[in-house]
Amino acid sequence: MNNADWMRRDLAVLWHPCTQMKDHERLPLIPIRRGEGVWLEDFEGKRYLDAISSWWVNLFGHANPRINNAVKAQLDQLEHVILAGFTHEPVVQLSERLVQLAPAGLSRCFYADNGSSAIEVALKMSFHYWRNRGEAGKTRFITLTNSYHGETLGALAVGDVGLYKETYQPLLLESIAVPSPDCFQREAGESCAAYSERMFVHMEAALARHAHEACAVIVEPLVQCAGYMRMYDPVYLRLLREACDRHQVHLIADEIAVGFGRTGTMFACEQVGITPDFMCLSKGLTGGYLPLSVVLTTGQVYQAFYCDYENIGAAFLHSHSYTGNALACTAALATLDIFAQDDVIARNRELARVMGEATAHLADHPHVAEVRQRGMILAVELVKDKATREPYPWQERHGLRIYQHALARGALLRPLGNVSYLMPPYVITEEQIRFLVQVMEEGINLATAG
Ligand SMILES: *Cc1c(COP(=O)(O)O)cnc(C)c1O
Repeated sequence: MNNADWMRRDLAVLWHPCTQMKDHERLPLIPIRRGEGVWLEDFEGKRYLDAISSWWVNLFGHANPRINNAVKAQLDQLEHVILAGFTHEPVVQLSERLVQLAPAGLSRCFYADNGSSAIEVALKMSFHYWRNRGEAGKTRFITLTNSYHGETLGALAVGDVGLYKETYQPLLLESIAVPSPDCFQREAGESCAAYSERMFVHMEAALARHAHEACAVIVEPLVQCAGYMRMYDPVYLRLLREACDRHQVHLIADEIAVGFGRTGTMFACEQVGITPDFMCLSKGLTGGYLPLSVVLTTGQVYQAFYCDYENIGAAFLHSHSYTGNALACTAALATLDIFAQDDVIARNRELARVMGEATAHLADHPHVAEVRQRGMILAVELVKDKATREPYPWQERHGLRIYQHALARGALLRPLGNVSYLMPPYVITEEQIRFLVQVMEEGINLATAG
């Protein structure tokens, strides 16, 4: 069986995510036989350097021996057990360690099995908290423009990436969208911090106007990843925490993409020393091994649900079949072990410096509007006109050209529209970073030629 055979069998029965399936009449599907470290290998032995961590989930490489061994050992012990009325060693240990690592005050872990579900949990919990406290009028959520929180209906409703949302608009809760502090929009000569701080006036106004009916503000701290890797200054989070307290509105930090070291600290919220009321984690949580997500919250929230059984409406009766899966929790524990043993955050600082230096010259490219970086996320935004920042029309699919070139060169780059980015596993080497930058530059040149 070669690549073509697998592609044919696949296309007869599968429907792929985030894909116009007709594209595969001309774009090959890449069947992967095995992975090792940063590499993925297809059925004909061609290798691809996974520059996007397989959709931002993989932290320590594919088939990492340490995570493999932990999961193998757990497999012979217990694969899964119902988490209502029962518990098990991996989920207890993981919860203890997450509470220890997370911003101070987050003392409770509620599990689900994917990022979107964690968002649903946080939204429902926030609403239900206020209801239990006698404030049933709080039913709405405040979000930032260009934000992304997942694809299930609740998560989609609090997101704002038009591409994913517009079609389903009639099905969605109506959220309150506040202009994003995205620094790409700053004036020439204005600092990112000054811009983000200036944009907070919109959030302050929304809170003043809607606090009586708002459960929570939900944000992706520091980087709107699915929203074209747009970034903002930490100052915004500090102002947001203070304003949410003042207006009695929860703060939900969606660290699903940015958690676990992506922005240079274990959690992005650490950079301003704030504690959100809810922190959602998934993606890197299991090192990219198994689906798992968790919502961490405070003792105060927990206590608002804690009462006698007779008050049945007060309990948080939300569940997923695979809640707290033992194999997934084991992969997460092995991932946290690597963080603890290898001084990952410090090594990432060095890798991030290399990514920044290797790409700095791209800022001078005639079709690059900006090279931006936060820790282990580096993004290059292409524009049609550098002076006016007029974007390329999305229909022209310039990013696809980069994707195809990279595949031919043995790299998995998957631009978001006109934004090409690196978000590699942390086990990448400096030499591999330089290779990726070279491939990206070639791709940009091809995509912007003529
Ligand atoms: C990926 C992502 C989600 C959704 O997670 P899924 O596991 O894909 O449902 C939510 N929020 C952010 C910030 C994400 O990047």
